[in-house]
Amino acid sequence: MEANRIDLHLHSTFSDGLLSVEEMIGACKQAGLAVVAITDHDTVDQVASALEAGRKAGIRVVPGIELSVGHGEYDFHLLAYNFDPANAALAAALADQAQARRDRVHAIQARLADAGYLFDPQPLLAKAEGSVGRPEIARAVLANPANADRLRQETIEDYSTFLDRYLTTGQPGYVERRRLAMTDAIRLITEAGGVTSWAHAPWNLRRQADAEIRLRTLAEEFRAAGLAGLEVFYPTHSREQTKQFLRLCRELDLAPTAGSDYHGPGRENLFPRVGAWQDFGLDWQPDQRFL
Ligand code: AMP
Ligand code: FE
Ligand code: FE
Ligand code: ZN
Repeated sequence: MEANRIDLHLHSTFSDGLLSVEEMIGACKQAGLAVVAITDHDTVDQVASALEAGRKAGIRVVPGIELSVGHGEYDFHLLAYNFDPANAALAAALADQAQARRDRVHAIQARLADAGYLFDPQPLLAKAEGSVGRPEIARAVLANPANADRLRQETIEDYSTFLDRYLTTGQPGYVERRRLAMTDAIRLITEAGGVTSWAHAPWNLRRQADAEIRLRTLAEEFRAAGLAGLEVFYPTHSREQTKQFLRLCRELDLAPTAGSDYHGPGRENLFPRVGAWQDFGLDWQPDQRFL
């Protein structure tokens, strides 16, 4: 299989994406992709429909998830594939995360009310399957006419800007939520028969001057817990970063993975479309454990 025909990082309406599973698989088909995974945040509810849509479209779909995890002072994301979505320990951990996410919607509602922004949490909490995250809260704020004047005064024109200004660490509507520990999450997935890849690793290290050293130290630590891969190919990674991560994979015997993190239309500047990651002509092969 050609290396550029995979996309192992996509989000649907089962989490904060804007396309249904069927629309997303349709877009993958259109783009000529051969192997894909829908990796919704902290949920496996999309897996059955994704496999079904893949069968209909003639595309190989592998079960996927993106877990929000903590590690000391850091928040990271962990991609996982080919696990048993019915595994009892995994299901229990995800049910706990779902509750933490619902609790956070109420906590954020209270904080935003103090800051002068209102939204109706009910449609978000009524979602029968999947997970609820900050992007949906930000969209609910933008959709509420009661916020129109305030948004105009603050020149906030899209949900993404609102999320950045109000819902991220240190901002007025930010609320911490409990997460799995990175090493526990790796073990949980491994015991459910799956493989893991550390998603967009530089994401939370970018403010640190010694990011490169920390990246290696952390990757070694996670490798010892069973981490199998590193998301090397990602739309916001530069050529230099991509080369660096590929080298790290070789040195630590981790498998490189590739994904676009496409969430549907709306953030084309960073995440333009399915399959939109670059390998910069570097020499690599997709690892069979991930396909
Ligand atoms: P949560 O799942 O509630 O922790 O929300 C984090 C998710 O929101 C990330 O995984 C991204 O998919 C998304 N996200 C983060 N920042 C932004 C932004 N500025 N605009 C849109 N989506 C974002
Ligand atoms: Fe997301
Ligand atoms: Fe992520
Ligand atoms: Zn993602």
